Amino acid sequence: MANPLFDTLFEQHVGNDTVFLQLPDGETITYAKFLQTTAQYAGLLTKLGLQPGDRLAVQIAKSPQALAIYASCVQAGIVFLPLNPAYTANEVSYFLEDSGATVLICDQKQVEALSPVATTCSAALETLNADGSGTFADKAQKLPEVYDTVARVADDLAAFLYTSGTTGRSKGAMLTQGNLLSNAKALMSEWQFTAQDVLLHALPIFHTHGLFVASNIMLLAGGKMIFLPKFDLDHVIAQLPHATTMMGVPTFYTRLLSDPRLNKALVTHMRLFVSGSAPMLAETHVQFEKRTGCSILERYGMTETNMNTSNPYSGERRPGTVGFPLPATEIKITDSNTGETLPDGEIGEIEVRGANVFKGYWNMPEKTAEELRADGFFITGDLGKIDQDGYLQIVGRNKDLIISGGFNIYPKEIELLLDEEEHVLESAVIGVPHPDFGETVVGVLIADGDNALDLEKIKINIHKSLARFKHPQRLVTLPELPRNAMGKVQKNALRKRFEKLFLE
Ligand code: AMP
Repeated sequence: MANPLFDTLFEQHVGNDTVFLQLPDGETITYAKFLQTTAQYAGLLTKLGLQPGDRLAVQIAKSPQALAIYASCVQAGIVFLPLNPAYTANEVSYFLEDSGATVLICDQKQVEALSPVATTCSAALETLNADGSGTFADKAQKLPEVYDTVARVADDLAAFLYTSGTTGRSKGAMLTQGNLLSNAKALMSEWQFTAQDVLLHALPIFHTHGLFVASNIMLLAGGKMIFLPKFDLDHVIAQLPHATTMMGVPTFYTRLLSDPRLNKALVTHMRLFVSGSAPMLAETHVQFEKRTGCSILERYGMTETNMNTSNPYSGERRPGTVGFPLPATEIKITDSNTGETLPDGEIGEIEVRGANVFKGYWNMPEKTAEELRADGFFITGDLGKIDQDGYLQIVGRNKDLIISGGFNIYPKEIELLLDEEEHVLESAVIGVPHPDFGETVVGVLIADGDNALDLEKIKINIHKSLARFKHPQRLVTLPELPRNAMGKVQKNALRKRFEKLFLE
């Protein structure tokens, strides 16, 4: 095969006049049209001097054209590097410099801020706006609607996705064609996607979830996507009756649950709701099923590995777990200090091996060697355990582990108890510096609506279920938890905010 990823996902649709993308205003784009645009964009990238293996940085709004840029990179053998539009010029400068991208595509509105950055990094600047206009689109329009696909092999790079960097410096995860293709095939078959499916797509496409999980599966299956620029509750509710499936982060589901319009009638056509990218409360799962009759399928993945595990399509979807390893993906739980495999039921590092696991971090051989073992197992940095039926449960991030007076404390255990308390919507448990214990436990609570929380009572209740060393030394309330674009709670921001609580 000349270009495994392009030939499998895209080439099959040349001349296919069925709808690939449907926009909120009703406009539709066929597969055939999408591939003509892709060919023009690929032609332009080549004309701009990008060679196979070069990097293209893209910081633009979600649009069909933005997705066609990804496709054109695959066709021209260029490494696609999408960036969150929320990044500042300073941050973009780091990504350009680190990746060595030679072209940056941005929104016209950002030209003033980004052109000095592009100049410093010797990158050419082109524009592509949310409505599909811009210098890049203008130039591409004059080019042929066919392009000679560049030959690639499965081990060649397809994309750099910078890790969301909730701690430390963001790292460029090098993803190969083979990584993306193997995962799309595994997920399409596990979740039973077909050309009849209509996916409600409200995720961003600078992240693995919306870009690879959602879009690659639909391209492989030949289905249709209702392509929304972002998650807007009214738009999602308006479109749900026209969809068969939706993929989301947990906040999509909590927001839907907060709206009385969510009911069984709204979702009669839906055969699958998927959640991932951040932990979903077991309570959300239960409430959603109660209200709609649909059991959300939770899966687990990350930028570096694509998707690793999934609750079953057929069979029990167990709330609070992320299910079983996908076909051809191995999972093991290991001791953080010795690296030895632990028996089922014990908490340790989650390690993953398979065709889905990335090639390493760009320009960071030492970091790669620390996290990617010679035998192919990747140390995810997540802590988990496997229950007696083989379901994987994530108990937190390694760096979120609290060590107080020499004892290990897993925040999740305390969060689960706090979440059960009256009027608690959600919680986050963190470790903060303490003069005696090194670190101690602080529970951050968010109240449900306008309800006041009885912190004293909550404290007494949870103490009953926890060993003394795990007792939060302080419970505090906030209006909401700080989250990043994918809905992940930013515990480092909370740790910073409360770092002096016991030091003053
Ligand atoms: P990212 O690379 O931005 O996709 O973040 C990956 C991280 O998100 C993982 O290492 C986990 O910590 C977290 N994550 C993803 N899916 C889940 C899930 N279903 N439950 C809990 N955490 C998750």
